[in-house]
Amino acid sequence: MTLAAGIDVGGTKCLGVVVDGSGVIVREVRRPTPTANLLVGVLQEIAHELGEHDTIGVGVPGLISRQGVIRSSPNMSTAIEMPVRELLSDALGEHVWCDNDATCATLAEWQMGAGVGAHDMVLVTLGTGIGGGIVSGGVLQHGAHGHAGEAGHMVVDAHGDPCPCGQRGCWERYASGVGLARLSGGLSGEEVIGRARRGDGPAVSVVNTYCEWVALGLANLANFSDPDVMVIGGGVMEAADILLPPIRQHFARLLYAPSHRQHPRVVGAELGERAGAIGASLLHLHD
Ligand SMILES: [Zn+2]
Repeated sequence: MTLAAGIDVGGTKCLGVVVDGSGVIVREVRRPTPTANLLVGVLQEIAHELGEHDTIGVGVPGLISRQGVIRSSPNMSTAIEMPVRELLSDALGEHVWCDNDATCATLAEWQMGAGVGAHDMVLVTLGTGIGGGIVSGGVLQHGAHGHAGEAGHMVVDAHGDPCPCGQRGCWERYASGVGLARLSGGLSGEEVIGRARRGDGPAVSVVNTYCEWVALGLANLANFSDPDVMVIGGGVMEAADILLPPIRQHFARLLYAPSHRQHPRVVGAELGERAGAIGASLLHLHD
């Protein structure tokens, strides 16, 4: 049985898994995410600790070329033009597959999670920022240069809040977990959701405004790509029970010509924090 290793490089932790041929996680390793100069060494340690495997893939945040070069990465500002795939491949003495972390999560949810059976799917992860991925016509999309799916930097307000990327009014300024905290005026996302659960009026209003921002971006993405299903993941979706109903309501209103079309299903991701690592383990099947 094939043993496929996958490692997800997250904002705070690196999570490695080995998945067997029936999709079961048989081993798991965690390490804090190091600075960029130590990244390959830590990935090498994780790969060794994961033990026996036939293939290995890595998901990294930021713009990743199809050759596995990190062009730029928001959480690792010194990882500019870093050939992580080649460096790790040389260190391990085996072929390494490498892709964007949200593209990996998309692959995992499509093959083993909330998007199973979909022919056309969009995934967004609402975390510190917003990542995205696209399956179109039954094929995982990379774009011409490996950069497809950067939904978080879709501009939704040309004169809006400055984004660390240098533009203004990027969707992730409003619809990420950080966006929720910003709308809350000093509360954390968890706090405002907790208050909304207890029926606190101002918190319910903030959550509703937040869900409208999420739905606005989803409607733009659906207008453009016409998916069967839109999967929402990321840490914010731990509160899916309270967020999904208003997101769906706003989405159904904001979608283009809503009464003259089939609406995509809007669902929560199913694989949780392991989606990126599982997807990285599947990269060798979808290069
Ligand atoms: Zn931006």
